[in-house]
Amino acid sequence: MAHEIAHENEIELSVERAWTQAGYSSCVQISMRVKGWSKSGWSRKMKMLFDCGPAVHPDCYASDHVFVTHGHTDHIAGLIPFARAKSQSSSPNCIYHVPEACLEPIDLAKGAFEKMNGDHEIPMDIKTISPGSGEEVVIFEDKRKKKKVVVKAFETVHRVQSQGYAVWVVKQNEIKDGHGIDVSDDDSKQLHVATDEAGETSKCEFVYTGDTHFDALIKDENLFVFEARILCMECTYLHCEKEKEVVNADTYQHVHLSDIIKNYDKFQNEKLEKLVLVHISRRYKKDQVINFLRNGLGKDHLKPLLEIVTVNYTTNGKCYLVKPVDEEWEIKLNKTPGWGWG
Ligand SMILES: [Zn+2]
Ligand SMILES: [Zn+2]
Repeated sequence: MAHEIAHENEIELSVERAWTQAGYSSCVQISMRVKGWSKSGWSRKMKMLFDCGPAVHPDCYASDHVFVTHGHTDHIAGLIPFARAKSQSSSPNCIYHVPEACLEPIDLAKGAFEKMNGDHEIPMDIKTISPGSGEEVVIFEDKRKKKKVVVKAFETVHRVQSQGYAVWVVKQNEIKDGHGIDVSDDDSKQLHVATDEAGETSKCEFVYTGDTHFDALIKDENLFVFEARILCMECTYLHCEKEKEVVNADTYQHVHLSDIIKNYDKFQNEKLEKLVLVHISRRYKKDQVINFLRNGLGKDHLKPLLEIVTVNYTTNGKCYLVKPVDEEWEIKLNKTPGWGWG
């Protein structure tokens, strides 16, 4: 019924910005809008920042939550300056979610910055979140509709302790007459969701892997990442002809484009709508990035994957999300002088 649909919370989540360049800086901002909370339509907007590298953009001060994947400087070095600036902005509230291993070093770094800041406190609400602990961060909850959006951590494999994050939309289903679970509503059908024993249907809307060896993603407990609606994955290396790069990806525990090609079947499912590749090495020029992706994913059986790929391009403090299949990308980007990919 139209009346009911108007009051249903629809959740729209998208990648707003991505400033990422391997070894230099990584920040991915997503925005979430909840429709139907009031009669005015889109009524709640929240932002989440994944990683906080040194080049964190002032637009990210609007974030309500920051999630850190690991302690490498390109992912965390902007955190305390960010917190200081945000605390003085028009939206000072923010929760910082960090891996257990980062907590003490962050406290030490924060103390050092505070000391240099004339012993003025830099307010930060820091919480740890661990993969496999069942911990979840509730980003939004509508108790009346029994619907919530949560973020959970999952384990990744990198040279230091690391974790990725997944955003889930969870709905508690009606229990009918004490038996069975009513999964007949439109929402469940649309979301291609699975119902667990607790009577909850969960849909993975977004995954951010952070830095990781690809092997971590194909472990049984992490296979859900390929069924996220949007998968934002690091792909540091792209040159499939250079054996040395494949070795480097393995040694430095990063993803290589050849990992995606070898495991293309995992990406080909109806739930995955967008594959956003980030954290690309600065060694490639922009046309090389497009060509590596077009050539690497150009074979017939891989083309459906190429269709959903978006890659992030960073230049002079601006960022763009570019589709390699877009024939117009050269015209758009060649007008913009810049310093490479990220
Ligand atoms: Zn990195
Ligand atoms: Zn790293």
